[in-house]
Amino acid sequence: MIKMVPLNTPHTIRLPVEVIVGKNVIEYIGKIIAKHLEGDEVTVLTGPNIRPLYSNTVTASLMDYGYKPHVDTVFSPKISEVERLLTQTPFSTSAIIGLGGGKVLDVGKVLAYKLKKPFVSVPTSASHDGIASPQASLEGLNGSHSIRVDTPFIVIADSHIIASAPKQLTLGGIGDVLAKFSSVLDSRLAQSLGEYIGDYSISLAEMSAKLVFNNLAQIISLSDNGIRTLLEALISNGIAMAIAGSSRPCSGSEHLFGHALDLLTSKKILHGFTVLLGTKISLALHGEDWVEFSEKALEAGLPMNARQLGVPPVYVVRALTFANKIRPDRPTILGNGITLEKARKVIDEVKLV
Ligand SMILES: [Zn+2]
Repeated sequence: MIKMVPLNTPHTIRLPVEVIVGKNVIEYIGKIIAKHLEGDEVTVLTGPNIRPLYSNTVTASLMDYGYKPHVDTVFSPKISEVERLLTQTPFSTSAIIGLGGGKVLDVGKVLAYKLKKPFVSVPTSASHDGIASPQASLEGLNGSHSIRVDTPFIVIADSHIIASAPKQLTLGGIGDVLAKFSSVLDSRLAQSLGEYIGDYSISLAEMSAKLVFNNLAQIISLSDNGIRTLLEALISNGIAMAIAGSSRPCSGSEHLFGHALDLLTSKKILHGFTVLLGTKISLALHGEDWVEFSEKALEAGLPMNARQLGVPPVYVVRALTFANKIRPDRPTILGNGITLEKARKVIDEVKLV
């Protein structure tokens, strides 16, 4: 049963109070936070690999501005990890700072949401658009798609740190932004069916995809300008979701396909890569030109078929047949489902296997 948001339903838009993107901005975290947050204790969550690299820089800056940081390590992207942290985070903490990749940010967002504390997002890679979004995905939380949390209160994205992250993560972030070429088509389809999705949020997501697509060479060179373009696009997508009040403008049939593929394969594949495959399928289903899109992305080093990801063709076909069931409340070009025969035909057409 499709449940759509009725037209003219009021909703609240919560945006970050400050977004800072630039080289070495992590060194000013204490000063940035002190402008907006009172209190003397803050909790810094980080990953086991990131902690030895950047944790000291962050805590030193926080201490310079009179904060007492409590540092904890996030070991897994599971709801049980949030539950552990709920018992270990000092009650007096005035903010949760997530210093790490997507999983640390997701755990931090959910922890902050549960504790009703502001969340400060300090990404150390640009692998997906969760950097500034009010959405989080955790294992054991709500099946395979994301849930709504609060928009990060402050975002501090250090382009030097992001450029030093493994290049595959940056490619994953590019994939997640390019997936908006498809999600905006599904959003417009849903609009035509009567669902309220603000035009501004759809345009913002579309603009991010175009900017990244037109600057692929610069981004993959990992130049500071290129990394900033990608970061600003990922942050804009988070803002688009905050404006829309849901992940809608940034997540359509290509994300449903990506989530379906995740359920079938035990291999850990970057989110941006699975949704990129879904984007090719979705563009074809929408009757859009997927060829130029695919060729240019492939040229930039992005994986554009299942073989490159080591995914057996049978999984790709099966994922497409049940992707619509991942979120049956969300109309997309997948409609009420794709038959096995049609799935094989489309996947063959877009040379996905
Ligand atoms: Zn995504």
